[in-house]
Amino acid sequence: VVVLAASSGGGLVAYADSQPDQPQGFKKKKVVVLGTGWAGTTFLRNLDSKLYDVQVISPRNYFAFTPLLPSVTCGTVEPRSVVEPIRRILEKKGGDFKFWEAECFKIDPANKKIHCRSNMGTNLDGNGEFLVDYDYLVVAVGARSNTFNTPGVTENCHFLKEVEDAQKIRRSVMDCFEKASLPYLNEEERKKNLHFVVVGGGPTGVEFAAELHDFVTEDLSKLYPSIQHLVKISLIEAADHILTMFDKRITNFAEDKFGRDGIDVKTGYKVVKVSKDAITMQNPATGDITVPYGMAVWSTGIGTRPFVVDFMKQIGQANRRVLATDEWLRVRECDDVYAVGDCATINQRRVMEDISEIFRVADKDKSGTLTVKEIQDILEDIYVRYPQVKLYMKSKQLNGIADLIRTGKGDTEKESVELSIEEFKKALSLVDSQVKNLPATAQVAAQQGQYLATCFNKMQTAEENPEGPIRIRGEGRHRFNPFRYRHLGQFAPLGGEQTAAQLPGDWVSIGHSSQWLWYSVYATKQISWRTRALVISDWGRRFIFGRDSSG
Ligand code: FAD
Ligand code: MG
Ligand code: MG
Ligand code: MG
Ligand code: MG
Repeated sequence: VVVLAASSGGGLVAYADSQPDQPQGFKKKKVVVLGTGWAGTTFLRNLDSKLYDVQVISPRNYFAFTPLLPSVTCGTVEPRSVVEPIRRILEKKGGDFKFWEAECFKIDPANKKIHCRSNMGTNLDGNGEFLVDYDYLVVAVGARSNTFNTPGVTENCHFLKEVEDAQKIRRSVMDCFEKASLPYLNEEERKKNLHFVVVGGGPTGVEFAAELHDFVTEDLSKLYPSIQHLVKISLIEAADHILTMFDKRITNFAEDKFGRDGIDVKTGYKVVKVSKDAITMQNPATGDITVPYGMAVWSTGIGTRPFVVDFMKQIGQANRRVLATDEWLRVRECDDVYAVGDCATINQRRVMEDISEIFRVADKDKSGTLTVKEIQDILEDIYVRYPQVKLYMKSKQLNGIADLIRTGKGDTEKESVELSIEEFKKALSLVDSQVKNLPATAQVAAQQGQYLATCFNKMQTAEENPEGPIRIRGEGRHRFNPFRYRHLGQFAPLGGEQTAAQLPGDWVSIGHSSQWLWYSVYATKQISWRTRALVISDWGRRFIFGRDSSG
């Protein structure tokens, strides 16, 4: 079936169902998606595949449910249960998708081309490289683990980012136990092999330490009774506390629980070097200390992938650390390229940069002052364009516009008076302090992928009926409202069937009941009924038989 509809551009748009040949003069736009992680996969699942010719490029042909990777490191959940083949996801959707298992190593925005390399044998040129054209490019390549150039980390530490990493960690834990059991080792060597070091006290490091502790106490202690008292788990964090992105109550609970569990939490220590057998860390009070270890997991943060750094140089973002997009997720200074998820950050516009323009738009009667009514009329638009204003009013417990005006006029003024530009500036002068970068989480990545798909699906209708907020001089017409993040809460599993949950509205809950909430949320969030069934049966198997220790 081919339906033709007039588009605002005067041309014809075709919505073709299973029709390989398009009417003359029309070609579907090519959308190229880089990456099959949270952002890329969510984008693809929500994209109306009839509208575009879609090509997906990723070095791995599956989606991985990263929140369960820490569970894979100790065999609580099997690797198979946390991945879903991308081809299965695309096939379920139907429509025009192509997938290439390859890595993009260069973006050429001037010619709208992507340079890719497959690691599966060679083409005629002999290097497995190929070029892909795009009309629209969606960069969703995630981030790399960041070593902060600490010597020896890449060579000697495990990362925990991919499914393979989790599998390697699992084998390595078992190797350490088997090594420590060999007859020819002395006590000190056994201790060294059973010293597990986790560097980085963020959610991933903490969850891994908790998983490992459970694995050791619940399962391995029975299998290795003669050496289990030699096991030590250290968690090293450069800041003063672990889990700093969580509520203070959660941080305290986690530190206390780990203390009781015998996990050695070393805060205020910075790792400066890792060799094959020992880790060197620094603390202003103690100076350098070097400790032997058996296995180390490095989880201190993320950095930008090298080919993205190269792309940033090409588009004038060389002085930035992370690729910047605007609030519509369009890469700054680069037409038709979008970026979602961990590989980018939104460069939120400051109210103060646009204040005169906002004043001009608000002052409908051109009186040179703003009445309460005039401000009220534009407030919703301001909230949409500058979410920091709403956050500011919330943080200062300002109930409405009159409160905000009072902060501009001083407390003594009556409500009816009008605001000059100076007073308007004063009222809003502090709101930009509420601009925050969104965290690098699956929640953000998925919401961005979904938002961008909605924009792509509505591209044509939005041309005719734009719904975007106030425009600032020099910006093009906005067809959509900007991306807005809805925080749904955050979990920190702490081991022993206890989880800390921080839900919107500063609602904190810690303990066994939140563990059940965690189980149910993570079962619900599974990408397919197949992985849901696998994960739930893994949990059940673990409850009944314990974790598997072969490997
Ligand atoms: P990713 O999901 O990392 O996907 C990137 C994709 O790009 C991958 O498919 C990759 O193969 C591909 N790619 C890489 N290089 C190239 C290239 N050169 N060309 C083409 N494709 C490329 N977040 C939460 O919200 N809750 C949690 O509980 C949670 N737990 C986590 C636990 C662990 C162990 C980890 C590592 C992360 C966790 N996160 C969690 C964070 C979350 O996984 C990330 O924020 C999320 O994956 C970001 O999505 P993304 O699509 O940007 O990147
Ligand atoms: Mg992705
Ligand atoms: Mg992912
Ligand atoms: Mg991001
Ligand atoms: Mg006026």
